[in-house]
Amino acid sequence: INEVEHLACDVLVIGAGGAGLRAAVEARLAGKSVIVISKSLFGKAHTVMAEGGAAAAMGNVNANDNWQVHFRDTMRGGKFLNNYRMAELHAQEAPDRIWELETYGALFDRTADGKISQRNFGGHEYPRLAHVGDRTGLELIRTLQQKLVSLQQDDEAAGEAEDKLQVIDETTITELFTGGGAVKGAFGYRRGTGRFIAIAAPAVVLATGGIGRSFKVTSNSWEYTGDGHALALRAGAKLINMEFIQFHPTGMVWPPSVRGILVTESVRGDGGVLKNSEGRRFMFDYIPEVFKAQYADNPEEADRWYTDPDRNRRPPELLPRDEVARAINSEVKAGRGTEHGGVYLDIASRRDPETIRKKLPSMYHQFKELADVDITAEPMEVGPTCHYIMGGIEVDADTTASAVTGLFAAGEVSGGMHGSNRLGGNSLSDLLVFGKRAGEYAAAHASASESPKLTEAEIAAAAEEALRPFGNDGENPFALQNAMQAVNGRLVGIIRRAGELEEALTELAMLKERIANVSASGGRAYNPGWHLALDLRNMYVCSVATAMAALERDESRGGHTREDAPGMDPQWRKVNLVASLDRAADGTEAVRLERQPVPAMTPELLGLFEQTELSKYMTPEEYRSSTTGPS
Ligand code: FAD
Repeated sequence: INEVEHLACDVLVIGAGGAGLRAAVEARLAGKSVIVISKSLFGKAHTVMAEGGAAAAMGNVNANDNWQVHFRDTMRGGKFLNNYRMAELHAQEAPDRIWELETYGALFDRTADGKISQRNFGGHEYPRLAHVGDRTGLELIRTLQQKLVSLQQDDEAAGEAEDKLQVIDETTITELFTGGGAVKGAFGYRRGTGRFIAIAAPAVVLATGGIGRSFKVTSNSWEYTGDGHALALRAGAKLINMEFIQFHPTGMVWPPSVRGILVTESVRGDGGVLKNSEGRRFMFDYIPEVFKAQYADNPEEADRWYTDPDRNRRPPELLPRDEVARAINSEVKAGRGTEHGGVYLDIASRRDPETIRKKLPSMYHQFKELADVDITAEPMEVGPTCHYIMGGIEVDADTTASAVTGLFAAGEVSGGMHGSNRLGGNSLSDLLVFGKRAGEYAAAHASASESPKLTEAEIAAAAEEALRPFGNDGENPFALQNAMQAVNGRLVGIIRRAGELEEALTELAMLKERIANVSASGGRAYNPGWHLALDLRNMYVCSVATAMAALERDESRGGHTREDAPGMDPQWRKVNLVASLDRAADGTEAVRLERQPVPAMTPELLGLFEQTELSKYMTPEEYRSSTTGPS
């Protein structure tokens, strides 16, 4: 068991969700040898859980849609903190990436005239989400897996199927190897046997998804412990805007065993409305000033919008997620919540049972099986759940390159694209657009690089680090994870205050020593305690980066709400908070936070907005450089 398995490839992809698989396809199409590693079973990633759809301005349902409108919606959703170049590329390239999936064998739902159907979602001006019922992610992953297999079959003719494209699942990467400011491979263990694996590669793509497991109430599954974020930090890359965490407004709240599981936004997109315990449709009370022009202020207009969107404003249930989550939080706090601390989501009184079952089959089964609620006859109980992190690895927009040579990042693990708040549906399109780019540029980098060599000493050091919990006599990893989740949920959650964030940092600092001394018992085969012990240090650095940035940013914007600093400050809109890791000689790590200017949008892109709108977010010097738009 102590023997290390040695492998090598041109492009190593860590993560087999949509971003990782799309990157792998592209790198292989560019002729490179590729290894894909996945912590969970192949095919099981957050991407497979995505329900609502992938946002792409194809204009199939409303011909007025185009990339400029999508770009505008994305910037508005992110409160103009987005990396504008990423948002631009995303809006421009998403339709091609969706079409391309159909050439790989995907089959999206259709409009009556046979085009790819598109559904409404929060913050999107037109119906824009390409979908397959409420199982879009499954189709996306299925298609990309199938594409990978077909690429392997092409290679098999030359007798080298697995040599050129290999998928290794149930394997966790714990370290990246670097030298001279460049990445040169990775180290990890096979979960089933505990056996170590070292892979040399001149180009590495991180596509490990999010950090949701640092919170107790979350839609995320067990493997989302911020590994890629932490691996990047330790390798010398930077994380931007880690304070922005999306709490999805609608997670299940009852029974306790399913608390946090996602209730798709499609329920609202397809007509569902939110009500408090007094039966009031309360979202009309929460339309913020910046969105008043686009959202209906009365139920009649809101309901007409579903059939006549051109002449009516949208229902406020479809405001961006940060707004809806805060509204639910306020209703519950004001004592107008349900018995179990949520609000009601009602589609039963709005659509007939057959339509509900047809459009939302997974939701129907989820509630029937997990909560014994028939959503065609009664309302659901829902409340906010930690869902997505907007912050992540700082990358170059065009190439997805991080600050470390040869290290690329795509999908949820990267930062910038979504600014302070992601619009629903923009993640699936993000991972297709930037997954492809990551594969392309990683392949190009590999072509221009020598094959790196890993030394025995660095492999031995990584193995020693991975085995450390077995020699420790500290605490149980599950108890420590509970303690960290409790700190984050209580003090760094949906509503934040300076004093509480300071308290969070003090409590996290106290956990640091305990985590360094976390202990694992038993053998190395299928040992979840050991696995979690190794994940904890990743969750820890991500949690510290989030709490530090949340304390520093004394304004409220998107997925970061400071009760003691309400409202957006145009000066803060110009600032990205960037975290890096200082490592002392004894191996102790400290997160460092710096302010960095947000790149200024080009005049052409500024010109897509009315100056009156820009003035709500920007200083006059910034928006006056726009070329058009009445002031
Ligand atoms: P993931 O799909 O999260 O994949 C990450 C991969 O990395 C996995 O294979 C994992 O095993 C692997 N990994 C992690 N750590 C390691 C490690 N240390 N070593 C090796 N491998 C590792 N977005 C939308 O746009 N539309 C939707 O309708 C939608 N619905 C959603 C519903 C749910 C329930 C959830 C949880 C999310 C939803 N999202 C949706 C968000 C979206 O699904 C995710 O943000 C997106 O799928 C992330 O894709 P990814 O490729 O970046 O990572």
